[in-house]
Amino acid sequence: MKPTDYDKIVNPLLTWYASSGRDLPWRKTKDPYRIWLSEIMLQQTRVEAVKGYYDRFLTALPTVSDLAAAGEENILKLWEGLGYYSRVRYMQQAAILVTEEYEGALPADYAALLKLPGIGPYTAAAIASIAFSIPKAVVDGNVLRVITRLGEDGTDIADARFRRDMADMLDAIIPGDVPGTFNQAIMDLGAMVCTPNGIPKCEICPLARLCKAHASGTELSYPVKSSLKPRKIEKITVFIIHDGERVAIRKRPNHGLLAGMYEPVQTPGHLNEKAAVIFLESLPVDPLHVERIENAKHIFTHKEWHMIAYEVKIAAGSGDAAAGLIFTPLKETVSAYPIPSAYASYRRYLGI
Ligand code: SF4
Repeated sequence: MKPTDYDKIVNPLLTWYASSGRDLPWRKTKDPYRIWLSEIMLQQTRVEAVKGYYDRFLTALPTVSDLAAAGEENILKLWEGLGYYSRVRYMQQAAILVTEEYEGALPADYAALLKLPGIGPYTAAAIASIAFSIPKAVVDGNVLRVITRLGEDGTDIADARFRRDMADMLDAIIPGDVPGTFNQAIMDLGAMVCTPNGIPKCEICPLARLCKAHASGTELSYPVKSSLKPRKIEKITVFIIHDGERVAIRKRPNHGLLAGMYEPVQTPGHLNEKAAVIFLESLPVDPLHVERIENAKHIFTHKEWHMIAYEVKIAAGSGDAAAGLIFTPLKETVSAYPIPSAYASYRRYLGI
């Protein structure tokens, strides 16, 4: 497909979307705050997982000003389990700016949206086009997959210049009357038909007639992407310290990974039992029994935690709230503290 031919995709895409697009809660509104929230939640997270969080968040914080005024632990709690918590922290910083500078209403301007914390080109284009009908195309992995397959284009999609060129091309063809619909249509095609894993569903694709990769049977050769750096492995030893009624947790630092959330005691490295007992001597607890429990792994974008763990029983009512330890009743851990899903494997020990 020549660059000038891409405008041929517009009509078939819009027709297909009218009958086959996804019926999603955030598609029923033009409220920029709701569209913004959905786009932020959908980064790195599946649609099905987002739906419940979206409703719960909006019930608790229905406006930009509510988000701006919310307490940190409240927003982390509402985000708990979604991961990538910096998303909601940036969103709150942006909400504060929007409240101060735009009287609580997101600006109807792509460049102004782009200046807000946590809003990159994709999210700014999504909000601008869907909420404000500004003709700005979204470009992400889904869109680039569709476009490179259509044109059998073997350029590395990690190449910034190529992404800019594709953004310019899509900005030139996006229909001025329904830019949000076009963006949602290409998002849905990438998610449901021209899928990233496995064989794309070319037999139901509205663009099959135009697609060069489909004509050549080379769909799976695109997109071309230079390999990413392998994730860094971090070994961690986790200690579930409890007396049967209460479990020890502590607050993580206010910066860096999972900032400001709560964790069971942990330390870098995989400690054998002897080293674990020595480590416990540095804490204000008096272990009655230390036992190795199951291993766990959690994958972040750029790193993996490989966790080994010990269950540490202490006497009922013992344990000193020193060294930042909080002894929380097991039944209250989940309601009172934001605990990252990285510890999901230890859920039954933590009362979460
Ligand atoms: S025909 Fe197949 S490869 Fe081409 S855009 Fe459609 S789903 Fe993707």
